[in-house]
Amino acid sequence: MDMELNADQISARQAFRQFVEQHVIPTAAKCDALRETPPELIESLAREGYLGALVPKEYGGEGMDGLKWGLLCEAMGYGSASLLSLLTVHSMVIQAVLKWGTQAQREKWLPPLASGKIIAGFALTENKTGSDAKNTKTSARQQDDGTWLLQGNKKWMSFGQVASLFLILAQIDGKATAFLVERGSRGFSTEPITGMMGFRSAMLAQLHMDDCLVPAENILGRPGFGFSHVIGTALDQGRYSIAWGCAGLARACVDACLDYTDQREQFGVPIREHQLIQEMIADMITQSRAAQMLCFRAASLKEQGDPSLIMETSMAKYFASRAAVKIASDAVQIHGANGCSNQFPVERHFRDAKIMEIIEGSNQMQQIIIARYGYQRHQIKKKGGGNP
Ligand SMILES: Cc1cc2nc3c(=O)[nH]c(=O)nc-3n(C[C@H](O)[C@H](O)[C@H](O)COP(=O)(O)OP(=O)(O)OC[C@H]3O[C@@H](n4cnc5c(N)ncnc54)[C@H](O)[C@@H]3O)c2cc1C
Repeated sequence: MDMELNADQISARQAFRQFVEQHVIPTAAKCDALRETPPELIESLAREGYLGALVPKEYGGEGMDGLKWGLLCEAMGYGSASLLSLLTVHSMVIQAVLKWGTQAQREKWLPPLASGKIIAGFALTENKTGSDAKNTKTSARQQDDGTWLLQGNKKWMSFGQVASLFLILAQIDGKATAFLVERGSRGFSTEPITGMMGFRSAMLAQLHMDDCLVPAENILGRPGFGFSHVIGTALDQGRYSIAWGCAGLARACVDACLDYTDQREQFGVPIREHQLIQEMIADMITQSRAAQMLCFRAASLKEQGDPSLIMETSMAKYFASRAAVKIASDAVQIHGANGCSNQFPVERHFRDAKIMEIIEGSNQMQQIIIARYGYQRHQIKKKGGGNP
């Protein structure tokens, strides 16, 4: 990654990568095999301030800017997509509270989210409703004392087995509304999900709400703004993190292949000498670099507060996840039978990469909105609005 970074950014990147080398890479295969993330690993993220990276300093966080956050996600994606997903969902909830929370909500939730005392989960998807997320069925009705009762089920919550606070979308008479729901609330339970192809240590869970009691003050944002505003903010944040994570996963596969092709010999020479291997390596390096550049572009738009950030982040997530799948697939190919074995990390990267094309809005959803964006910009151009 050769983009111009200043000294502070270079040293932050070094620290992130060092953390991943020391704490994540040595444990990733075991976590994947055991399908769990040990509490000590989550505590080490908290100790480094990574769980509070996006929380402003006044609330006890690191107040990290978008580029550094991206570099952190890139480093984490290099080591473990599952662990990246913890940072992702946790930061999605933080962003939503930061942007849409009242002062009292920010003061209540941000400090424990920053310290890692509370781990947050993001609960949008349901068994029957994924991409059409605005139309999820979980409902909320208000009682005379102002409290809410939530009824419904959510599925596929990353780190839902360990999170103690969930951002949940529910309908109030057809108005999509966001709620903060604590584990331990009356009528709330979680159920582990097993048998996942990838993200195996992301400790997924279903959530069950059976007249789940939620205090009046736990609505985040206004009724009816839950999807368009609160969940929208969270998903924008999630896509940004996942795009960078894909760039990291891609880089991990490239590095693994550069090492492997140097050592593995066939037909009397290291396989790096074979031109068909070189073709794959060249494509992997180029695709990986292109994914990184789109992430850097999104970071720079974030820095400038440019409204095209949302669409450019979609493009980064779309491209980077596709690149990650292709690169991880070629990495397995290059490793031959070894690539099909869990003794080599590319096997895990291959399974995890596929998930990246589905989460935070599937790639078909990204394609639809990117195409729509292209037509809108074209219209602006035709009406004499310059060449956006
Ligand atoms: C490992 C993992 C972790 C996850 N973590 C979370 C989490 O923490 N929180 C959470 O809320 N959710 C989570 N999810 C759920 C994820 O967000 C959804 O899987 C995703 O939104 C897609 O929904 P779906 O799986 O129901 O697919 P569906 O929406 O049923 O789509 C099925 C297929 O149809 C395509 N499709 C749908 N509509 C259209 C259309 N209009 N045009 C063209 N194609 C279309 C989709 O792209 C997809 O290929 C997770 C999923 C996984 C696998």
